[in-house]
Amino acid sequence: MNLNTVLKTDEIGIFALGGLGEVGKNTYVFEINNKIFIIDAGIMFPDHYLLGIDYVIPNYQYLIENESRIVGLFITHGHEDHIGGIPYLLKQAKIPKIYASGIAVDLIEHKLMEHKGLQAPRIIEYKAHHKFRFDEVEVSFVRLNHSIPDMFGIVIKTPHGNIFHTGDFKIDYTPVGPHAELDKLAKIRAKGGVLCLLSDSTNALIPGSTPSEKAIGESIDEIFQNIKGRIIIATFASNIYRMQQIVRASYLNGRKVAVVGRSMEKAMEIGIETGYIRAPKNVIIPSEEIEHYEPHQITILSTGSQGEPMAALSRIASGVHRQIKAQPNDTVIFSSSPIPGNQEGINRIIDLLYRKNVEVIINGPVADTHTSGHGAQNDLMLMLAITKPKFFIPMHGEHRMLKEHRELAISMGMKPENVLIMDNGDVAAVTSDKIKLIGKVPAGDVYIDGLGIGSTGSKLIRERKVLSEDGLLSVILSIENGELKRIPTVVSRGFIYMKSSETFINEIQEFTQSSYNTNKIKGFSEEKLKNLVETELQDYIYEATQRKPMIIASFITI
Ligand SMILES: [Zn+2]
Repeated sequence: MNLNTVLKTDEIGIFALGGLGEVGKNTYVFEINNKIFIIDAGIMFPDHYLLGIDYVIPNYQYLIENESRIVGLFITHGHEDHIGGIPYLLKQAKIPKIYASGIAVDLIEHKLMEHKGLQAPRIIEYKAHHKFRFDEVEVSFVRLNHSIPDMFGIVIKTPHGNIFHTGDFKIDYTPVGPHAELDKLAKIRAKGGVLCLLSDSTNALIPGSTPSEKAIGESIDEIFQNIKGRIIIATFASNIYRMQQIVRASYLNGRKVAVVGRSMEKAMEIGIETGYIRAPKNVIIPSEEIEHYEPHQITILSTGSQGEPMAALSRIASGVHRQIKAQPNDTVIFSSSPIPGNQEGINRIIDLLYRKNVEVIINGPVADTHTSGHGAQNDLMLMLAITKPKFFIPMHGEHRMLKEHRELAISMGMKPENVLIMDNGDVAAVTSDKIKLIGKVPAGDVYIDGLGIGSTGSKLIRERKVLSEDGLLSVILSIENGELKRIPTVVSRGFIYMKSSETFINEIQEFTQSSYNTNKIKGFSEEKLKNLVETELQDYIYEATQRKPMIIASFITI
């Protein structure tokens, strides 16, 4: 597959290998005059039904087959759903250069160090004012606001017009860090305009505007002033600005900060290294020193805001954390909002905390402890109004979010035929006067399980599902010259409890024996015999128990 043969010379090819119809594994590809520009290489965290899968990455087949035409990988910001796929992409395709900015560079470097032996290309650190030329194409950057520092939208200037990829953004008039360069966007609009906009759709279903980070900082300050005991506060380890606000509220209120949870410790290290987290000396203390202070002098900054069972907060709540145990007069603050699917785990932790008479504060009408990094409808409409694109591709969102974003654009006067809703793999061809779908490239989910890339397929996942729901039953048959020599051995894991199921096990043994003997007479091969014993046993067990464990028949020839 090579789009080069499909695209006409004046056509720009635009497609995503991840990020359309989902929130995660953002990977966008732009093909301009035979050159391939990639924006972001993210991972997605697996759903609960993907048992044992660590991450999901896109199918990189197209990039592997066309690697000689790849110019570079441009990173908008350092979130996992934008950089997490980099090591796996590098293992499969040659990427000449990675362009990233600020804290994203540190996060990528840390990530690459975890993958030993990886041949990584040079990371070029871009600044807001930098421009990179690739013959007739020029790439430049527009600083926007998000929930991590150094988030840049990317402008690709082509002979046919400007493409603007927003990355993740919200409109924040009082950001914690530098202001967004909305003026730059206005300038692009004035000079040639925006031919095609790709814009973040994550919060397209949410009316109004996303609250400013600063408002949350003030609210956290206020909450801290009124708490007398220990504060345990959980947030996303990637939200460096929030971490800084928590550190600041702590020292302003005479508290030391101890960090718990591996990802939070790493984020704190990178935050301090890059200067985004600043605190007077000795404010950040090792968690071993918590005991040296009074409860009102302590803030514990913790992972686990999504109720993850292995994270620090969950362990603190259930009393199994090595150093910290929740106690009465503690206050636990969730500086986060639940990602869909995680509410149950969070409720479980809150319940545990209530049992220990711990005060719990969550984001909601009573307290503002969190704001999203993604723009709500007003923010998205402002982006559309400033850039006034000729063509528009809503990106970064599930299908209904993309559709709602499209409606917003149409309500502002965009022609419906100029807005394209796409799925991963759909290829759009864009010229100065047309946008249309022209075909598909391979795109799909690839599972990362331990060190294996894609070695765990959907068949394995189905097997794990069967094992997790109904367990395993194995029968071992000892055979000499085709004759069964012993009563078959029955082994069960997760299906029946062997010790208390003697009668049933005897029945299984008898059934297996007769199944083998009746089928053997028909002269089947060993393989076929095995299959027959397994299927007949399956039916027998289903009849008896209404359950379908995984059944394995093994023949041992004596
Ligand atoms: Zn992000």
